[in-house]
Amino acid sequence: MSETFEEKIKAMKTISPEEMDKRVKEIKNVCKSFCGDCPTYTGAGETQLGFCAVGKSNLIKEKKGCLCVNCPITKAMSLRWDYYCTWKWKRTVRDLKVDMG
Ligand code: SF4
Ligand code: SF4
Repeated sequence: MSETFEEKIKAMKTISPEEMDKRVKEIKNVCKSFCGDCPTYTGAGETQLGFCAVGKSNLIKEKKGCLCVNCPITKAMSLRWDYYCTWKWKRTVRDLKVDMG
């Protein structure tokens, strides 16, 4: 049975901060091959990765294409959106309290 993103996030509320840090590191590592190669990211001066986990970028302003749909984290976390680098979405993988911007 496949769970929704919301169900997965709910289940993750019980994991320790150390485990969460480990998962965010893993997400960033995977993200290198997607955000890292994406036209929106390239040349924007950004070095941060894993926007679905840590929230939006302060440097990326212009949307030039998004590779999130191809990223395995999208499938693993049942993400349904894109351009995580440009908007404050309600429930990042890491911080459940980020408000919509
Ligand atoms: S979130 Fe999407 S648009 Fe933003 S850097 Fe990553 S792949 Fe590119
Ligand atoms: S879904 Fe997008 S922001 Fe999240 S790790 Fe993958 S490429 Fe990066």
